[in-house]
Amino acid sequence: MVRSHDQKSLRDAGAAQMTWTEPRTIRAHLENALAWGTENWSGDLLPPESNGVYVVTLRPWRGAPTGSAKPRYVGKADAKDPRLRVRIGELLIDLAGYQGSLNWHHQGGHSLCLHCEAHDINPLYLWLAWEIDCPCPACEENRLYDELGGGEREGGPLVNAKRPERCTQPEHPE
Ligand SMILES: [Zn+2]
Repeated sequence: MVRSHDQKSLRDAGAAQMTWTEPRTIRAHLENALAWGTENWSGDLLPPESNGVYVVTLRPWRGAPTGSAKPRYVGKADAKDPRLRVRIGELLIDLAGYQGSLNWHHQGGHSLCLHCEAHDINPLYLWLAWEIDCPCPACEENRLYDELGGGEREGGPLVNAKRPERCTQPEHPE
């Protein structure tokens, strides 16, 4: 059985030690991305081309996201598909409604688009951040999903259509 990291090191890398980027509005993310090629652009503000976990909230927060940030979506890019930048890009496409009625790319973006419409929320002022140095995105996504109260099926605030798939690494904690 191959283990990418042992259980102790995973436990040691607890939530308090993980590093979240500072949450920024969708508007701020887009303004930076669209400033590509100018002095106003910062590559550090783009999602990395790596694995990771990300969260969309209605309110800004410090340190790590909690329920008081009014979380609405939790997602990940894992080792099987370590394209955090592409996944967040797909989220933004569908958040903007740039999809056919049957051809959405990203369930979270699609659901957030509908949620914003239903609740008269301006999507530009949703807050987005991602977590770097995350030892196992699948475990972290599950932990965060529970900590933030879960989706509609669990009576929680997230628009995730279903609970994230459990981590398949046998030594990892639930
Ligand atoms: Zn795991």
